[in-house]
Amino acid sequence: MTHWRYASATDTGLVRETNQDAIYVDDTLAVVADGMGGHAAGEVASALTIDLVCRNFGERPTWEGLFRAIEAANRAIIADARDNPERFGMGTTVIAVGLTRDAAGVVSPTLFNVGDSRAYQLRDGALRQLSEDHSVAEEWVRMGRLTSEEAQVHPRRHQLTRALGVEDELQVDVSSIDAEAGDRILLCSDGLSNELSGEELVRLASPPMPLEDSVSQLIDAARQAGGRDNISAILLEFDDVTVATAPIKKTMKSMPAPEESSPRPNASFASTRRRRRFTWRVWLSVAVFLLVLGGCVLVVHWYAYSTYYLGDDAGTIAVYQGQPSGVLWYKPIKVLDTTYKAAQLRPADRQELIATIEEPTLAAAKGQAAALHGAWQMGQTPSNATTTTTLKKAAG
Ligand code: MG
Repeated sequence: MTHWRYASATDTGLVRETNQDAIYVDDTLAVVADGMGGHAAGEVASALTIDLVCRNFGERPTWEGLFRAIEAANRAIIADARDNPERFGMGTTVIAVGLTRDAAGVVSPTLFNVGDSRAYQLRDGALRQLSEDHSVAEEWVRMGRLTSEEAQVHPRRHQLTRALGVEDELQVDVSSIDAEAGDRILLCSDGLSNELSGEELVRLASPPMPLEDSVSQLIDAARQAGGRDNISAILLEFDDVTVATAPIKKTMKSMPAPEESSPRPNASFASTRRRRRFTWRVWLSVAVFLLVLGGCVLVVHWYAYSTYYLGDDAGTIAVYQGQPSGVLWYKPIKVLDTTYKAAQLRPADRQELIATIEEPTLAAAKGQAAALHGAWQMGQTPSNATTTTTLKKAAG
């Protein structure tokens, strides 16, 4: 059975006005979260993380459970920032060691890391960093673009490539800790690791110095070195360790949010609010779309029937409403048959009639038909003129 003893402390440091670090440690879980963001937002992000990780890991003490707990914290921070714009941009690192139970019932220590808070293992006076920093400079060291020494002074050494609260997709480094009885594990924020060298960490954190004394001396030493950031340290010492039956070392990528509501009331409330807002936006979008679509249909309809023209309907001059060739599904409609025959037009007018003669109104179309017929009539002998009728009569 794995068992550890522990001591912990967190300090504002000498420069910052508030402490945005948050820590938690008990018999099965140790967490350090280094919050960032103005208007006390960093404190909210780190406190939310500690709260959710503790609650969820307590319900599901497996490595998957702790990973899901970190995922839940990430989502909660993003939701909180969305609901509270003054906290936009807040985030936090998280480094945690949990005593996780595997399928065979073996309980062993597992490390979880996002950001640049660190985990060190101390054994026999030697220090080994267990976590990889997720900062631009350290990523470049792993890519071979910088040396470790260059990274320590590089201007982008504090720029994180991973943190909670940034985006829904989260990557968490998960690894089993290969520990022995007597080993110590130090979890700390960068306010400690940036101020103290590896030699100082070994000197102050190693046995036989009692855990409480080690932690208070680590904090004091970081303050004396400048205390430019919040300083947090959790020191664990294993009395007994069982080894994981199937050691893990992987980077877990977050999955889509589970459908079931979170056990945390606030998270559930936030989720409901998001769903409501989502539904409201969808309905508004549909209404705007339908209004625009309806407006387009009305404009096309108006254009399609905004004009009249004279045409030849089986030898008779007729008045049609609409565009001669139609518009989309709107075809011209015959609105009037005159009593004038197409044959009773001058040849040139007859050609124009075949090509349709457009007029802006029904009255203008009727007038034009009468005018064309009159022009033809003028060219006829008096005996032929008796075959005509008037438009008035036809319309009446
Ligand atoms: Mg910090």
